[in-house]
Amino acid sequence: MAFQSVAQLISSAARLPLWCAVLEDDCRDRGAGQADSLSKMSALWQAMKDSVSGYDETRRSPSGLSGGQGAKMAQAERTLCGPFLQQVIATALKVGEHNACMGRIVAAPTAGASGVMPAVLLPLQEQEHLSDELMVECLYVAAGFGQVIASRASISGAEGGCQAEVGSASGMAAAALVHARGGSPEQMAAACAMALQNVLGLVCDPVAGLVEVPCVKRNVMGAVNAMACADMALAGISGAIPCDEVIDAMGAVGHCLPASLRETGEGGLAATPTGRNIAGVQTQSTLPPESKPLS
Ligand code: SF4
Repeated sequence: MAFQSVAQLISSAARLPLWCAVLEDDCRDRGAGQADSLSKMSALWQAMKDSVSGYDETRRSPSGLSGGQGAKMAQAERTLCGPFLQQVIATALKVGEHNACMGRIVAAPTAGASGVMPAVLLPLQEQEHLSDELMVECLYVAAGFGQVIASRASISGAEGGCQAEVGSASGMAAAALVHARGGSPEQMAAACAMALQNVLGLVCDPVAGLVEVPCVKRNVMGAVNAMACADMALAGISGAIPCDEVIDAMGAVGHCLPASLRETGEGGLAATPTGRNIAGVQTQSTLPPESKPLS
């Protein structure tokens, strides 16, 4: 991987579009040709689309905690957020639930955060009739920023808390959205930086150790945060702190988090009376797969 910083990503974009620089890097890294790289990324885009179209509102996760909520959101009337954000929220829920129900998803950057990227890109493609080719370019942009986050900080909840998972997905998605709208590399970096700033310190506290509560709804937060930060960046707003410094701060904050808040299922929401109760029920395996979800 050539990119150790967002500053490097931006300077590489002086000679060619940023997404092309990431594509070139992927080819160098894997010793592959451009056609091969593009075909693999296109397959990932198709898999993202399938993770939404393959959603089955009647399915429930083995724990009974997830299922049906994406459809509920899609069918809601008179939402405060309006039709477009409603679709973003519903899509994030659908993919999160699809993952909890053992469906196939694209870990971008992780399974727990797999709802963020499709939640922002699919509704945008549909609304603006964007091409699959442009969406694939967006994935390269997201991959470039994700690569830097992974190398300077972390994309693992066990290492850096949920800021590293849903937070990273949100930063990657924000940068990708800026590309979709024709923004500059600097605006992509600003969008990513602001998205990460907004989630700094977010803990990883999955109830019963399952990637369901709060994970599924955190994907909604990551997607909506990405949209807002992309819009701010495109409006010329910056987060004041350069993206690389924000990423380094995220890494430092992750190291400060106690183990109980890093995917152990021992702190935060997992440690609430209800969280512990759910964990106890799961341990005793008395909850049949067909159990109704909590809400
Ligand atoms: S709370 Fe933890 S397990 Fe759940 S999405 Fe966030 S990082 Fe992943």
